[in-house]
Amino acid sequence: MNQSVEIVEVGPRDGLQSQPTLLDTDTKIELITRLVAAGVRRIEAASFVSPKRVPQMADADAVVARLPRAPGVRYIGLVLNAQGFERALASGIEQLNCAAVASTTFCGRNQGSTPEQMLALIAGLAPRAKAAGRFFGVTVATAFGCPFEGEMEPMKVRDMVAALVDSGVDEIALADTIGVAVPSDVTRMIELVQPVLGGTPLRLHFHNTRNTAVANVCAALAAGVRIFDASVGGLGGCPFAPGATGNVASEDLLYLFQRMGYDAGIDLAALVATAHWLEGPLGAKLPAAVSRASLFPPIRTA
Ligand code: ZN
Repeated sequence: MNQSVEIVEVGPRDGLQSQPTLLDTDTKIELITRLVAAGVRRIEAASFVSPKRVPQMADADAVVARLPRAPGVRYIGLVLNAQGFERALASGIEQLNCAAVASTTFCGRNQGSTPEQMLALIAGLAPRAKAAGRFFGVTVATAFGCPFEGEMEPMKVRDMVAALVDSGVDEIALADTIGVAVPSDVTRMIELVQPVLGGTPLRLHFHNTRNTAVANVCAALAAGVRIFDASVGGLGGCPFAPGATGNVASEDLLYLFQRMGYDAGIDLAALVATAHWLEGPLGAKLPAAVSRASLFPPIRTA
């Protein structure tokens, strides 16, 4: 068996956005260049949000202008409103990803709008992205739980997914923004949304806040999902969700996939070396388990 899976690397955006240390554009480009050299083919590279709110992403346009180009490599820019959408289109980035939020309270605090307003915005943006020849994905944040409201009603998530499919988005991601899901939640949620996806690819975004992310990925794999967000080194979290640290680490997923016979097309040693390198500019240790351990099987050098 050698099935193909995709790791969408979100470290340069989702990861760096929550770091207290601001990296300069050169260092961000070096990070992205190293990720591409390791074999990563889709990278969330920037966020088109207010630099006052997210100073880590203030150089989004400069980053996009300098992204390393290689065959099959595509970049994603995050947009949260019409203004960000226009900036992303103008930057030339090939994929746009917008966020819808399942929780009304979280949506209000994070985006200053309601879930219904976000869905209406997305319904307007999706055809414009298509007309501009851009891939347009949407992440449903807090799909498995909210720091303010607690449990999310799975039917609410399903209805949002159905609305997004109706809007013609190219891909839908479900995000466990605060890392509360367990595998049985994941299995149930996928069973619930599958019938309304109508062929729209499903991507999952897990945080390892409660050490359940790799188990959740296993459950999603078993349910047929093949696209996963992850962050090199386990970098990041969400600065607007209290206590929500830890995107699942790309190397932890890659190790899992390789040992299970799934091919992600990424070199594990190169990814681990990138995580180790990144600790220098950040001045901090990163939490990925695989980067803390020795490579297995060991690489023999002459
Ligand atoms: Zn995340």
